[in-house]
Amino acid sequence: MTDCIFCKIVGGDIPADKLHDDDLCIAFNDIHPKADIHILVVPKEHIATVADLEEGKHDHLVGHMVNVANKLAKREGAQGYRIQFNVGEKGGQEVFHVHMHLMGWK
Ligand code: 5GP
Ligand code: ZN
Repeated sequence: MTDCIFCKIVGGDIPADKLHDDDLCIAFNDIHPKADIHILVVPKEHIATVADLEEGKHDHLVGHMVNVANKLAKREGAQGYRIQFNVGEKGGQEVFHVHMHLMGWK
């Protein structure tokens, strides 16, 4: 999607502090961290919200993103962490490209 900020980060058109990159997703530091560790895990495919995930097509994606988040939490030295999706404007979502917040404390 051309005017999506996270698609631009996925495509390398906007720089980000990238911590992970694979076939399905990337991860980078949140620009306004709300914890000692605040990483966004973002699928490469443009999907606006978690509510748009399709049964069958995306079944593997979220599990994979959790695996990535677990590895990053360990690597970054989180003693405890929270994994969060904000869904829709009322749910606090500001960027309409699916992203998992990994917020960790050392
Ligand atoms: P949301 O409220 O949509 O769940 O979270 C969006 C998150 O993206 C916010 O925590 C915000 O700080 C982060 N964010 C927004 N724009 C950028 C950006 O250009 N680069 C990075 N690294 N993070 C961003
Ligand atoms: Zn996008």
